[in-house]
Amino acid sequence: MKTDTPIKALVMMSGGLDSMLAACVLKAQGIHVTGLCFESPFFSAEKARIAAAHIGIPLIVEDFSDDLIALVEHPKHGFGANINPCIDCHAGMIRRAGLILQRDGFHFVATGEVLNQRPMSQTRKNLDVVAEESGLKDRLLRPLSAKLLPETEPERLGWVDRARLLELNGRGRKPQQKIAEDFNLTHVPPSAGGCKLTEPHYAEKLWDLRRNGQLKDRHAITLLRIGRHFRLSSKVKAIVGRDSAENSALTSNTEAGDTLLNTAPAIPGPTVLVTGPANEKELLTAAQLCARYSDVRTDPHVEIIATGFVVNRTLIVAPATDLDIDRLKI
Ligand code: SF4
Repeated sequence: MKTDTPIKALVMMSGGLDSMLAACVLKAQGIHVTGLCFESPFFSAEKARIAAAHIGIPLIVEDFSDDLIALVEHPKHGFGANINPCIDCHAGMIRRAGLILQRDGFHFVATGEVLNQRPMSQTRKNLDVVAEESGLKDRLLRPLSAKLLPETEPERLGWVDRARLLELNGRGRKPQQKIAEDFNLTHVPPSAGGCKLTEPHYAEKLWDLRRNGQLKDRHAITLLRIGRHFRLSSKVKAIVGRDSAENSALTSNTEAGDTLLNTAPAIPGPTVLVTGPANEKELLTAAQLCARYSDVRTDPHVEIIATGFVVNRTLIVAPATDLDIDRLKI
């Protein structure tokens, strides 16, 4: 079915080269391409904004926070190497793309996926799973590997010329670099990356929130990017700033119910943010951590100032020991 109305494609933009190329391959066929990207506490839309601007397409940015937190809680297809539920996440994003397709009158959705490029999410089996579970089925086109995959609706209906799609396969990047040159792309980003859920240290801290039923606590998730984290009880954590920027970030991210700890003014030391309803023992433990990371960590006693909604006092504590650190550090 040919049509006189312009064909409108919604291309998922990660900000990496592959999604840029997928958009370029479709644009080269005269298709009207709009980018779509998502943002959440675990990744930003910044790279996608740069990529879309570079190839001259409009970009829709959607919030994916609640969707992704729900998937981290209950991933139907499990996790990758860390706390990344990639198959479900990807299907969820494409499902959302399907809703936007209906809302805004796009003809089909395309992605920059390359067959067998990623071990978890881009095997042939998992590409099929994502197409099925997203509800888009064969309205989902992968222009970079389309010739190696079954024909999709946009190809069958003549919206897209299958002969001008590609047959990329595997992890190599050279073919993409060559195609980028053919399209005169001067901004060639490295593979998109940037999802905190795939970073081992970040994942440890998010596993801890999940174990303690705090995944829906946006304040707790925001703080995961800052400082050293210590678990004092199921509801209470201490976060220790590692430099002056983090100390400032902890101070500015304090919420009602939190307590801030600092060494006495004459003593260089970190800011410690205690989140949640700390009892006396937990407050003392956090003060010991503050002393432990100060410049007077070998002193027998250190003066710590606690400020917050319910406390405003001075604590004199012995610095935490290495054993304390091992026991409490997340
Ligand atoms: S890397 Fe992160 S954003 Fe990408 S599919 Fe996996 S969980 Fe989702």
